[in-house]
Amino acid sequence: VKETGKNNYRWFSDTIEDIRTRRMLIEQFLKDAINGEELTLHYQPKWDLVQNKIAGVEALLRWTNPQLGHVSPYEFIPIAESSGIINDMGEWIMRTACRQFVAWQKQSPGMSLIVAINISGVQLLQPNFIERIQGVFTDENVDPCHFELEVTESFAIENFEEVINILVELRNLGFMISIDDFGAGYSSMKYVCQLPIQCMKIDKTLIDQLADNVRSQVVVSTLIEMAHRLKLTVVAEGVELPEQLHLLRTYRCDQIQGFLISKPVPADRVIELLHTNDLV
Ligand code: C2E
Ligand code: CA
Ligand code: CA
Ligand code: CA
Repeated sequence: VKETGKNNYRWFSDTIEDIRTRRMLIEQFLKDAINGEELTLHYQPKWDLVQNKIAGVEALLRWTNPQLGHVSPYEFIPIAESSGIINDMGEWIMRTACRQFVAWQKQSPGMSLIVAINISGVQLLQPNFIERIQGVFTDENVDPCHFELEVTESFAIENFEEVINILVELRNLGFMISIDDFGAGYSSMKYVCQLPIQCMKIDKTLIDQLADNVRSQVVVSTLIEMAHRLKLTVVAEGVELPEQLHLLRTYRCDQIQGFLISKPVPADRVIELLHTNDLV
């Protein structure tokens, strides 16, 4: 073992320990966060390019802990999944989004707004997921037809048949189903062919390259055409630049989401955004 090797080892082991400690802290604090005031939902609009209005909003979880500060969902969602916390957390998310939807309807009667929530694969595959989600929507007196469930394809690999069955049941309850992050990582045409989905969300990584990579222009325009022939609504996510918007318009993309339109905002700002017609 070289001297530098030894140093590397020490540095490496400290880092692993730091990571472990942080994971443990996150897991421990997250358990209490669900019943406290630390979690909130922010909402990011989906802009309809045909109707020129906000078609819906996606609920995105935010967590600020007194000790840890703001923690990104990219960091804590995987920990919530591996520890099983995601199941109770997911129920909190559904319930909170339902109550918020009811509040918006009171504030702005007659509005048409689809609320999307992210459903983790672990959450979807818990034994009583259907009973749980049905329970929440019954309790809160919300018709599932106002809600969309965004699911990622990564989980479907091992439990494909089971996932199809669950999604069919959710569909029968009235939920819309979107395949999230399409074009990233695990994308398979099998999912598009066999999952009972109504909407495809094209991943930000494909949109990022759109303005300066001719190949990604071919890929994205072809994906949109394919989705349309499958009667799917297409949402492009992570749109930040006017050039990207311009190209997506020429490809007849249905909806866009991204900082160009709006960042995710607290619930009380959503009604204000709904009445702004110059977001684009
Ligand atoms: P996602 O579902 O793909 O959500 C989109 C992420 O991209 C969000 O990050 C959003 O804030 C961000 N984003 C949107 N537009 C832009 C843009 O134009 N530029 C850039 N740079 N970013 C943009 P966020 O809120 O940090 O969430 C990260 C991921 O964590 C989400 O990715 C989702 O997989 C997961 N997540 C967030 N909230 C929930 C939740 O309530 N439940 C579950 N299961 N997962 C969640
Ligand atoms: Ca999503
Ligand atoms: Ca996404
Ligand atoms: Ca994503």
